[in-house]
Amino acid sequence: MFNGNNMKKKETVNMSSYKLSDFHKKILKKDSMANKYMNESNLNYFRNLLEKHRDHLIKKIGKSTIQMQNRSVNFPDPIDRAVQEESFNLELKNRNRDHKLIQKIEKTLKKFKEKNFGYCENCGIEIGIQRLKARPTADLCIDCKTVEEIKERQKIG
Ligand SMILES: [Zn+2]
Repeated sequence: MFNGNNMKKKETVNMSSYKLSDFHKKILKKDSMANKYMNESNLNYFRNLLEKHRDHLIKKIGKSTIQMQNRSVNFPDPIDRAVQEESFNLELKNRNRDHKLIQKIEKTLKKFKEKNFGYCENCGIEIGIQRLKARPTADLCIDCKTVEEIKERQKIG
């Protein structure tokens, strides 16, 4: 009976020392994960993603320009002309949006050279892999972005 209790006690001691080392491991792991936030493979992944997206947009803009040139016929019917004009306006709007996105991607790609890709432009903390996966051109962390959006809304309102 006495021996049994003693063993139990010993076990508890061992358990707590195990917990401590486990806790320690967790800290170490967290530390090395922080160092690995923007490691080579993450950087390559996002650079690739951005370059592919940019190339796709450039191709899309090129295609749309050719299509518009091909379709640019002078319709005698004013309704046909109006429809054509509307579709051209929409095309131009899309092209403008794509163009802006290309510029944003180029700006983001420069960050790889400056070695600050993935960090908030405002406060400098990590933007986070998940957020970057959803929006690789994000240049603010979620907190700064939220503040910016609130300010933006106040400007409008
Ligand atoms: Zn921030």
